[in-house]
This record gives sequence, structure tokens and C-alpha cells, in this order.
Amino acid sequence: MKKVDITYRYEARDDQPRLLPPDSTAALVRLDGGNREFAALLDQVTDETGAIQRVIPVDPRDLGLLQDSGATPRQTPFAAVVGCSDARVPVELIFNQGPNDLFVIRVAGNGLGPDVLGSLKYATENLGGSLRLIVVLGHSGCGALTAAVDVFLNPVDYLPLATKSSLRNILDRLLIVVQTSAKRLLAAFGPDIAQRPGYRQALIETSIVTNAALAAHSISEFAPNDPSRLKAAYGVYLLETREVWAPRPGELKGTGLAEAPRDLAGFVELGDALVQSERIISFLKSQK
Ligand SMILES: [Zn+2]
Repeated sequence: MKKVDITYRYEARDDQPRLLPPDSTAALVRLDGGNREFAALLDQVTDETGAIQRVIPVDPRDLGLLQDSGATPRQTPFAAVVGCSDARVPVELIFNQGPNDLFVIRVAGNGLGPDVLGSLKYATENLGGSLRLIVVLGHSGCGALTAAVDVFLNPVDYLPLATKSSLRNILDRLLIVVQTSAKRLLAAFGPDIAQRPGYRQALIETSIVTNAALAAHSISEFAPNDPSRLKAAYGVYLLETREVWAPRPGELKGTGLAEAPRDLAGFVELGDALVQSERIISFLKSQK
């Protein structure tokens, strides 16, 4: 097995300020590129020995190293990311970013509760000089969506949660997403689909994408009229391949973040791309 080093490197001689993405498209390209590099880095791990290394340069200003003594670094993230608390999805690491790059909010199921919305409001009102993108990032196998799908498939499971308001608050918001996803699968594959062994898994993974896309659509309210200055995007981090996935029309695979659907037509398009995607079809074909 190869040795892998991922290093944050600050070099004293590097006194050039870090360049921020000039617009939202450049911010999205930077995150996609970072994730591709992260996924590819670990793809190189084979049974051979040797070492592979990824160096993430750190601007000394972001650690307060070039400030006058006592001064704190200025906060200048280029993207805000709403992600799941799941310990397997460390946001900076999977996008190959360093300190002061991302404004990260993590809650179970990456839902938009009051504290998440308040944090985003703060970011858009106070970090507008650098902030170019808001991302909602779901991930495969998410426990929150899995629990919501299990309640949807077997409503009796809701009863033990009825008296646990903190968990119920997370779950209640997700049930509408699960219901919509179930209807979409039913419309695409017919009523027998629910009998297939892989249906539950397909419904979980369809709901994870829909949840992230709906949240990204909802937070477009924070984006100004000029989408080049700030826009909303979404994606799903696949634990299996370490790549970010977002289904797109006409693409079977669909790697990288996607812009938030703008309207009903955008969601219809997303629904079509989801049910035609290699990933969802593979669950439905599964015999497990
Ligand atoms: Zn999760």
C-alpha cells in the first residue's frame, strides 16, 4: 500500500496574496477541480509501495502570519458550504481547500433550519467582498435521509420519534423530499418498482440529490440579481468514489457540482436526469 501525505504548506518566501475566484463560475470550477484532485489522489493508492503527496498551499495572511502583532486575519471565503455533519465528509479536505477558503455550516442531513439560514444570511451580508458561491452538499448513504425513507416506507417507525422533537424537526423537513422522490421513481418505472430489492436504496439516493437541490434552490433568495457575483449550487459527495455527483440531462454519470434548479422546469429536468442516471438505475437493477 502506498503512503499518502496531504500537506498544508506555508512557505515564508511566498508573499504573493492568494487569488480569489473573480466570479461564481470560477469559484465553482475551483471547487470541482479540488474535488477531482482529491478523488484522483486516492485513486492512485494501490498495493504498490511508494508515496504520493498533495500539497495545499496556505497563504500566510490566512493564519495571521504577516499581520502586525495582535491583528487578526480578515475572513475571506470564496464559497459557503452547507454540508452534513457526517464525519466521513470533511468539507475542506474533499475540495482540496485550506484555511479561510470556505465558510462551512454542517448539520445532520444538510437541512435549512433557522441557525443554518441565519449563518448564510450573515455570510452573504458580511463576506460579500470575497463570497462567490453557496453550495449545498449532500452525501451518499446519508443517515438523516435513510431515516426519512424508512419512516416513509413504514410510517409506524414515526411513533418512537414523535416524542423526540429534536430528531423530528430534522426528519419532518425531509419527508416531503422523500415523497416527491418516490413519486418520480414510480412515474418513471411503474408501480412494481417498489417491490424491487434495490428500491429502498434507490429512493434514499434519489432523495439525497433532491434534498440538496431543493435546499440550493431555496437559498437562491440570498443571491443577488447578478449570478456572476453569487450563485447557489449543489452536489452529492459519493463516499464510494470520493467524487461529487450531480445528475445532468443527457449525461449518464454527471460529476461535479451543478447550479441550483431555478424553477419547476429545472426540477422536472433534474428528476428526468436522476431516473436516467447510471447510479440510480444500478440500485434498481441490484438484487440485494
Ligand atoms: Zn448525512
